[in-house]
Amino acid sequence: MDKKKIVLCVGHGTNSWGRYDPGAVSKDGKYHEHRLAKKITKYAAEYLGCELINTDGTLCLKGRIKAVNAGGYDFAADIHLNAGGGTGTEVYYFHGSPTGKRAADEICREISASLGVKNRGAKVRLNSSGKDYFGFIRQTVPCAVLIETVFIDCDSDLNKIKTEEGCKKCGEAIGRALEKALVNYGK
Ligand SMILES: [Zn+2]
Repeated sequence: MDKKKIVLCVGHGTNSWGRYDPGAVSKDGKYHEHRLAKKITKYAAEYLGCELINTDGTLCLKGRIKAVNAGGYDFAADIHLNAGGGTGTEVYYFHGSPTGKRAADEICREISASLGVKNRGAKVRLNSSGKDYFGFIRQTVPCAVLIETVFIDCDSDLNKIKTEEGCKKCGEAIGRALEKALVNYGK
């Protein structure tokens, strides 16, 4: 089986006006979604030996999508932290994609097991026109998922990933999941 060409993107960093976009911020203001996502993404990419996009945080969403579509990848993931008063991990995938669902299921399972957080499951989110809600999933050419690792505004979630060690654990969980769901699938 050919090796799947995977790319991982760091969520946020720059908004469409070219300003710094931290994404969501922890309750005490100390932790920024973009900065934690950057560490988690780095560890996941190291585990997989795959390519990375937006590690310097200079690409807005449009720029990340453009870079994904220019790279000839088979699979892309945008890595985020959730906010809004929940707890646990969830992953969005392109509606109707069995590969996307398999990857999303596996990522949720691995993050939930290795960090000991709630598994909120693989999800599809559509807009009012019945298309995928997230631009990163809707406008990218390869099979794409959006990973909401844990909630940055939930202290018990944040405690699991606020250290370098926690980011490594989370990143490697994503790496193992993609290895199982994409690289070694069917072997
Ligand atoms: Zn985000």
